[in-house]
Amino acid sequence: MKVCKFGGTSMAGGIKRVVKIAEADADRRFVVVSAPGKRKDGDFKVTDALYRYFKLKDSSENNEAFKPIADSFRQVAEDLGLSVDIDGLLSETRRDIGRHSDSAEFAASRGEYLSAYLLARRLGAEFVDSDGLIRFDEGGELLLDKSISLIRARLAGVERAVIPGFYGADESGRIRTFSRGGSDITGAIVARAMQADVYENWTDVDGFLSADPRIVADPARIEWLSYKELRELSYMGAQVLHPEAIYPVRSAGIPINIRNTFNPDCAGTLIVDEGMLPRDSRPVTGIAGKKGFTIINIEKEMMNSEIGFGRRVLGVLEDDGISFEHMPSGIDTLSVVIRDDTLADKLPILVSELQEAVEPDSVEIHSGLSLIATVGHCMAARMGTAARLFDALAAKHINVRMIDQGSSELNIIVGVDTFDYEKAINAIYAAFFR
Ligand code: ASP
Repeated sequence: MKVCKFGGTSMAGGIKRVVKIAEADADRRFVVVSAPGKRKDGDFKVTDALYRYFKLKDSSENNEAFKPIADSFRQVAEDLGLSVDIDGLLSETRRDIGRHSDSAEFAASRGEYLSAYLLARRLGAEFVDSDGLIRFDEGGELLLDKSISLIRARLAGVERAVIPGFYGADESGRIRTFSRGGSDITGAIVARAMQADVYENWTDVDGFLSADPRIVADPARIEWLSYKELRELSYMGAQVLHPEAIYPVRSAGIPINIRNTFNPDCAGTLIVDEGMLPRDSRPVTGIAGKKGFTIINIEKEMMNSEIGFGRRVLGVLEDDGISFEHMPSGIDTLSVVIRDDTLADKLPILVSELQEAVEPDSVEIHSGLSLIATVGHCMAARMGTAARLFDALAAKHINVRMIDQGSSELNIIVGVDTFDYEKAINAIYAAFFR
């Protein structure tokens, strides 16, 4: 049995394909959907339009604000060839939003609600509303175990259902939503509850790519990916899936298959536990990076024997509410790498506090740093991976400012000057993939 989730672009321009895909395999019994997304550049996503409508619903702009929502669903109903009273449904939606006038979450949830309702009609499947499936506490935190038992009880014996993603309800029945992109989480919870063999996540790309296509020309698709590799690559900016969608399926050993609605013949990316990865995988699975870091180098003679040095440095960061990303160290040096957006204008005060806390010989700041992670499970067992990476950077005259290899040997992270960022990613890609 498969649980499928279709994203916003699939539910907009790809809706006819969604029907084909859902009907092509009788195992696709539970279908979770997003609200329609953009059809072309410059369009509104329905969820964004609903938030906007919510703000303007009592103003003179309310009709204009509702128009993109109405247009989008009229088009969906037409593409599905449905003879439903779409105008009636849309007026009812406006009335419902008016009745829940203090809840932006209710308004936002109507995109998924209508999407699921219309698709269920077309597929002849049962429409099962998520307010009875996904439970949140009063603070808006997901109650996973409770949701799993609600889903099992409600879907037992249901042959085929279409379920809205993105929202559920709290104990008092108020509609609550996940963070943006949260339909991925709904799909993962349904897959977990129904013990699916696979969670298919249908989107508009062929899967995870081994590098950012805006930087590397035509990068290879990643066929297999472990959950841990996924975590590393997503942390570094490769976003295809909501990060919170991983836990529910991972803990039950359910693979996630990223698929492309617009290219259904492509097998996509299969995300599995590392034990299930094929043994002959490449040493490197993917390369991802981020710009915008500052490195603070702290130097003090005999630092290695000064007990509590590291704790005092981190204590200063903690007191200032700053999180650090990496902390490479030498014998008499310790560096902390911090994201520029967390540092903001706190740098001068941070430096003086560090000076007071650890009395270093010097504190040096190097900004304009980018980090690049070269990720791969199989690198632990292969000699020469680091040599290949650094040779490739040296051959392009790229200066490496920082190196960090996690003890899991799952990745090698290098810090380079931001002006070398694109060049460095291309050099590493060429070394492992070309
Ligand atoms: N429609 C919601 C959003 O745009 C949730 C989703 O699509 O997953 O964020």
